[in-house]
Amino acid sequence: MHFSFRLLITAFFLSQSLVSFSQTKVAIIGGGMAGVSGAHFISELDPTAQITLFEKEEKLGGNAQTVSIRNKEGQLVNVDAGPQYFIEGPWDDYIAFLEKTLGSNPYQSETVDASLLIQREKQQKPVLVSPLGMKLRGERLGKLLKLKRFNKEAYEMYKHPDHWKGISIETWVKGLKFDESYKNEIIYPFLAASLGTTVPEIKTTSAVDIVKLFAFRKPKASNQFKVMTDGMGTLIQRVGEKMNPKQVTIKCSSPVTKVVRSKDKWLVTYSTNGMEQTELVDFVIFATHADQTAKILKSEPSLSEAIQSLKHLTYFQAKIALHTDSSFVNNEKPSFLNIITNDSNQLVSSTMNLSMISKRLDGIYKSWASPEAIEQLQKSGKLLHVSTFWHPLITTDFITQLAVLHKQLAESPSLYLSGGWSEGLETQNSAIISGQHAANKYKAFVVKGK
Ligand SMILES: Cc1cc2nc3c(=O)[nH]c(=O)nc-3n(C[C@H](O)[C@H](O)[C@H](O)COP(=O)(O)OP(=O)(O)OC[C@H]3O[C@@H](n4cnc5c(N)ncnc54)[C@H](O)[C@@H]3O)c2cc1C
Repeated sequence: MHFSFRLLITAFFLSQSLVSFSQTKVAIIGGGMAGVSGAHFISELDPTAQITLFEKEEKLGGNAQTVSIRNKEGQLVNVDAGPQYFIEGPWDDYIAFLEKTLGSNPYQSETVDASLLIQREKQQKPVLVSPLGMKLRGERLGKLLKLKRFNKEAYEMYKHPDHWKGISIETWVKGLKFDESYKNEIIYPFLAASLGTTVPEIKTTSAVDIVKLFAFRKPKASNQFKVMTDGMGTLIQRVGEKMNPKQVTIKCSSPVTKVVRSKDKWLVTYSTNGMEQTELVDFVIFATHADQTAKILKSEPSLSEAIQSLKHLTYFQAKIALHTDSSFVNNEKPSFLNIITNDSNQLVSSTMNLSMISKRLDGIYKSWASPEAIEQLQKSGKLLHVSTFWHPLITTDFITQLAVLHKQLAESPSLYLSGGWSEGLETQNSAIISGQHAANKYKAFVVKGK
């Protein structure tokens, strides 16, 4: 009885959908995790939708750039130059998405202990070194206990996010009961290095959003991160390959240059092989960064206020080098994250020792370093790869402006601004959530009737 009632309800919604969904044309601009997940969720929701996914680069993936480099043994190994980590809990949507789209055994992962070392330039003795697994390595216990206490404070914020809206990292850290030298020598460099930015910039970021980003968890949770063996970028490309080509057309090397209204539709202008082309669509999703979205929309007068908001969302540049120079890490006390600071407690470099993930990555390091240091690596022949990324600096102003932007765009039913950034939290997981939100807006659009 109960079962047949459920069947009836399903049949009702299905008939509603069949009435409303009628080959709606959708353009998704940007083939990072947000664009790809948006394409997946819309095609799942409406099997009649005709989706075109435009990506300006040759491959899908966006920031998730998996590169193939040679290890010590000369074997080609996959390394993520951009996003690399995930853990259960804060990345559950990411894990579920891969399982759903890639089927059984969707990925292989490796695990790494999140050990940390902070060291001053040209000094041998670290300012802080955390234990490796359960092993203590001559650390100053007082500093470690403080780090544990700091994690507890961060977890309190993670648990009660509403108390902390609008508070910057600097204001939050100022209120914590640690001595100034500990804050300057350890807390700020640690937070800045974890985001891949500088100390002055990290101070302006929104405390609660940064804490969410670093996935501070229960103080007793294991200190391990997971890494995709094939690479996060490779997995996005695989998701793209699994999409039904009759429903989703993927156009790589096809940058979109302009999107304007054309009566009740959107005219998308893009170029392929140097040839300008257009496509008329009913619904458009921008899964590009805020500044790029502003450029593409700049000729659309009805969105001038939203374009101003988009321009206020700031980004910082992160240059990441993959290399073989072991002088960036402390070999006596091997730690995964190696932070080097100068006398003023500003970051000089931060380096991940990838050997600690697995043997296949032995002797490979991933560094956020100055342009001079990268040039030096190139001269010495130790540079394997360098990538430049633009990452949103999630300041308190960014969060405020984002809320304004979402309100402004609520009045445009056939447009959604997606991307990890549009959740105010920039991870592969938030990019997937934003793809879901794009599909929700699409659903509201088609149910209302085009
Ligand atoms: C160095 C670094 C490390 C990070 N580490 C982690 C991590 O460990 N774990 C984690 O979960 N997240 C991490 N992140 C964050 C993660 O990369 C982002 O949250 C995620 O990539 C956002 O996905 P997205 O699809 O919103 O944007 P993106 O991945 O940036 O995708 C946007 C896409 O739009 C395309 N595009 C731009 N303009 C156009 C145009 N005009 N026409 C067509 N296409 C266009 C771009 O080429 C790109 O493919 C890291 C980021 C950086 C920079």
